[in-house]
This record gives sequence, C-alpha cells and structure tokens, in this order.
Amino acid sequence: METQRKYKFDWDNTVGADMQVARPSLGPNTRIEVYRLFQFTLRDVLEQHYGTEAADSLFREAGVMAGKAFFEKFLSGADNVSSLTVKIHEAFTQLGIGIFRVESAETDNSRFIFTVDEDLDCSGLADTADVVCVYDEGFIRGVLECFSGKGFDVKEIDCWCTGSRTCRFEAKMLAS
Ligand SMILES: [Zn+2]
Repeated sequence: METQRKYKFDWDNTVGADMQVARPSLGPNTRIEVYRLFQFTLRDVLEQHYGTEAADSLFREAGVMAGKAFFEKFLSGADNVSSLTVKIHEAFTQLGIGIFRVESAETDNSRFIFTVDEDLDCSGLADTADVVCVYDEGFIRGVLECFSGKGFDVKEIDCWCTGSRTCRFEAKMLAS
C-alpha cells in the first residue's frame, strides 16, 4: 500500500492547469533568478542533510519525473526520433528552457549526444570542476524512456560550469 503523500506530483494539481486563471495580471512568466534561487537553496539544504551524492541522485530522480510529465504534456504526438527532437527543440525554446540540439545520433537510436545552449539551470554560472546539470540528466532520461519504453543512461559530459559554455549530454540505451 502506498504511504500517504501530501505532494504527489501531477501536472494539473501541482503546476496548475490554467495560468490565465492562476495569474490573470502577472501571466505565466517569472525570472531565471527566481527559478535558480529555488533550485539552489533546495539543493544546498539537501546536500547539507544527505550529502552531495544523495542530493544529486534526488535531483536526478525528480528530473526523470519531470521529463516524463513533460513528455506527456508537450511531446506525446512524436512518433519518431526526428519529430521528437523537433518537438523538444520547439518546447524548450518556447518555454525558455534552453536551445536544444541533437549533435549526433546512432542510426539504431541506441546513443545520442544532445546539447543545450543557454541552459536554464547553469548558463552563466561560475566555473567549477564538475558538471551540475543532474536534474537535466534525469529530465532527458525521462523523456527518452517515456518515448521509447526502453531504459536510458544519461550523463552530462560538458557543462557551462566546466568551461564548455554549453551543456552536452550523452544518452545511451540500456541493454534490455
Ligand atoms: Zn550544464
């Protein structure tokens, strides 16, 4: 039996179905600073309580949930990889998430390299020794798994924060 959950995610009830009703004068937009303020304070608290690895893995898990919900909401009409990637590009651009591109793709769809320029999570942040976009790793994994029904491993291999000035993700289909 599922334990009682106060915050179980579903789009209409926890994001909201109609932004015209929710915010008739301010509308659906806020600023990147507000998004990052929320993300990086939550991340700091998770790290302080549970350590870096657990904080990252919780963020990644949330990203998977988000990617699946995002697929259902914006991408579900895609019936092949090229229409999927076009739809991701359009939705990411329209919603201000980042500029999504496919850098390379295996013909059997078992491996992809994606890039996201001007990424919502990290673009413009100070250089660090490590990538930071673990939420996006999960997000892309959620999208690919929802689309294909197959398992994927997604790793960020370059990040704004590592000096690359773009985020680059390698997605590999898991052997079934
Ligand atoms: Zn990044």
